[in-house]
Amino acid sequence: MAKPKIALYWAASCGGCEVAVLDTNEKILDIASIVDIVLWPVALDFKYHHVEAMEDGAIDLCLFNGAIRNSEQERIAKLLRAKSKVMVAFGACACFGGIPALGNFTNRAEIFERAYVEAPSNANANGTFPQTLTKVKEGELELPEFFDTVLTLAQVVDVEYFVPGCPPPVDIILKVVDAFATGQLPPVGSVIASDKTLCDECDRVKEEKKITKIWRPHEIVSDPEKCLLEQGIICCGLATRGGCGLRCIKANMPCRGCFGPPPGVVDQGAKLVSAIASIYQGNSDEEVARMVDEIIDPAGTFYRFGLADSMLKRKRLQQP
Ligand code: SF4
Ligand code: SF4
Ligand code: SF4
Repeated sequence: MAKPKIALYWAASCGGCEVAVLDTNEKILDIASIVDIVLWPVALDFKYHHVEAMEDGAIDLCLFNGAIRNSEQERIAKLLRAKSKVMVAFGACACFGGIPALGNFTNRAEIFERAYVEAPSNANANGTFPQTLTKVKEGELELPEFFDTVLTLAQVVDVEYFVPGCPPPVDIILKVVDAFATGQLPPVGSVIASDKTLCDECDRVKEEKKITKIWRPHEIVSDPEKCLLEQGIICCGLATRGGCGLRCIKANMPCRGCFGPPPGVVDQGAKLVSAIASIYQGNSDEEVARMVDEIIDPAGTFYRFGLADSMLKRKRLQQP
């Protein structure tokens, strides 16, 4: 009997999701023995035209990591969607936009200016920027178009399942492969994680304490038994889906929200702002303003992984 066909792809990705697949250690051999990998750019030398030559629906499962930042990633997302029976948004970037979507607080022109002119390592006095089409004597060179706005995978194509995490933990990856191999995939649209919040799963002592000061993790020696938020360290557990195994909390670090919003929460950042505001104790406008100032990079704190998928989606673009 023919083995099921799997594709793995990375779009706007740091590569960490790919490493997470390799982190399955010797289990990667079990995976490889039960499936045929037909595309995996980070590891195997397949070409896009090999995928284009397949019949629609020929790939049984596509694990797609990374957000959609440029036209090549959009094209391959659509190609893999057409060729795949089951499309999985794999990792926080594919599910919610992730770290690349922080670029939605700016735009392409500002990013290019920073990357190709302002960065101290540049020697680009003429302000030359990459072009989508460049004519040289040998012919035409093409580059993908860099979008103003980073998109989630589901904003570009239909997606059957969402596997959150930055990167997804190994036990969840194995759960997905196992569910696929045994034909026991959950209902379409499922997020493969917990239905509770991270706080629901965290057994640190919570005393319903109000806070009067915000600390960054390196500014305070925190009590490893007590809730980090109640010690004044911003922890996103209240507005984050559980299921990661409390990875950061067990390392005495606050949650940064990489599992995305829990069920029923539309906008993770807005939920975090309201949750933190509810435990602030300020006796005057000045005190509250001081505490707000103590949150360094509020946009990056509250929307670190979820900006593209939020109600904000991006900073408003200036009208021409
Ligand atoms: S989810 Fe995290 S590990 Fe995966 S590609 Fe995005 S930044 Fe990297
Ligand atoms: S805020 Fe953080 S430390 Fe506190 S209970 Fe929630 S997950 Fe645990
Ligand atoms: S504790 Fe939060 S940031 Fe850390 S892995 Fe879990 S969900 Fe992600």
